[in-house]
Amino acid sequence: MTVPSDTSGVPLIDLQAQWATIGQEVLQAIERVAASQQLILGPEVQALEEELAAFIGCSHAIGVSSGTDALLLALIALDIQAGDEVVTTPFTFFSTGGSIARLGARPVFVDIQPDTFNLDPDPLAAAITSRTRAILPVHLFGQIAEMDPIQQIARDRNLPVIEDAAQAIGADYHGRSAGTCGDIGCFSFYPTKNLGGLGDGGLVTTDRSDLNERLRLLRNHGFRPKYHAREVGGNFRLDALQAAALRVKLQYLDRWNRARADNADVYRRLLRDAQLSSDRVTPGKVVVPVEPADRRHIYHQFVIRVTADQRDPLRAWLADRGIGTEIYYPVPLHLQECFAGLGYRAGDFPVAEAAAAQSLALPIYPELTVAMQQRVVEAIAGFFATGS
Ligand SMILES: *Cc1c(COP(=O)(O)O)cnc(C)c1O
Repeated sequence: MTVPSDTSGVPLIDLQAQWATIGQEVLQAIERVAASQQLILGPEVQALEEELAAFIGCSHAIGVSSGTDALLLALIALDIQAGDEVVTTPFTFFSTGGSIARLGARPVFVDIQPDTFNLDPDPLAAAITSRTRAILPVHLFGQIAEMDPIQQIARDRNLPVIEDAAQAIGADYHGRSAGTCGDIGCFSFYPTKNLGGLGDGGLVTTDRSDLNERLRLLRNHGFRPKYHAREVGGNFRLDALQAAALRVKLQYLDRWNRARADNADVYRRLLRDAQLSSDRVTPGKVVVPVEPADRRHIYHQFVIRVTADQRDPLRAWLADRGIGTEIYYPVPLHLQECFAGLGYRAGDFPVAEAAAAQSLALPIYPELTVAMQQRVVEAIAGFFATGS
């Protein structure tokens, strides 16, 4: 394939473009913290926690070492132990299920909704047993799961809800923001997330003061006072240098989230104008993400669906033209090798399995231009025009 010389590529994400706009400000903040030599937790992390609590609208925000550790800490704080069951979605990043299994607990999966990719509340009640200790919905791709019915089921069974909001900072649903719907919210500051640090980082949120106390205790070896361990926690601490970078970037987050949503609208319009969009998965067409009126999507990813036959060839076609895409996620959790012992089989969760075979994430980062999006859509049109 020859690449037309008048078009350049479009990466899936371009963090250098973001750095060009904020790098100086971030470096100044880092210099300030480096000069203070207060490098672990301390005033910088506390300031970030206060600013994030205000942004998210929660009573308590606790900075931690990663999104995975946020999940682990949340599960430990809720006393999830070996043999317990936690109900979650199979269509998510690995660590949602991995954190449950890490504690010796059993991830119990229920299928997703085809339009939002999020946990389907309909089969949820039937998955709850006498061993269930928590429900863990994921707000995938930046859109909040169907929390009203999920929380109704949780209330009826007296179960806590942990939100995996790693991809959804700033999203909302019925006036509540991600991380404030359940008992505990978990966020990630992995560099490619909508709010990303210069390395790993994460956050746990809660409105419950009992959980706030416990989460803070467990974050630092259960020490209270220092070197006196009340219970076994761990090192789940956030670095002050990460907090300094995140505090700068937090000031831009709302703008960036809106730019992503605007880019999503542009894709919808361009795909519709090119007569490429469809409401159902069918050859030669693209299904675009839905955005129900009752929630705000922050487009951590813009994930289209095409037929399973066309997905990988389309991805290769776009790669040949310098257009970056990714498959989130190719293997649903119930089919991961490490979970073979759970006894799930292909066919158990057909909606999640179809999503894994049909979905493709297009570039959606805030700095993307309309011209770049046009190139993406033209390339998709070119693929379908070859009759591939
Ligand atoms: C990124 C992510 C995590 C893990 O966060 P890390 O900071 O990478 O540990 C967990 N769940 C979901 C849905 C994620 O996207």
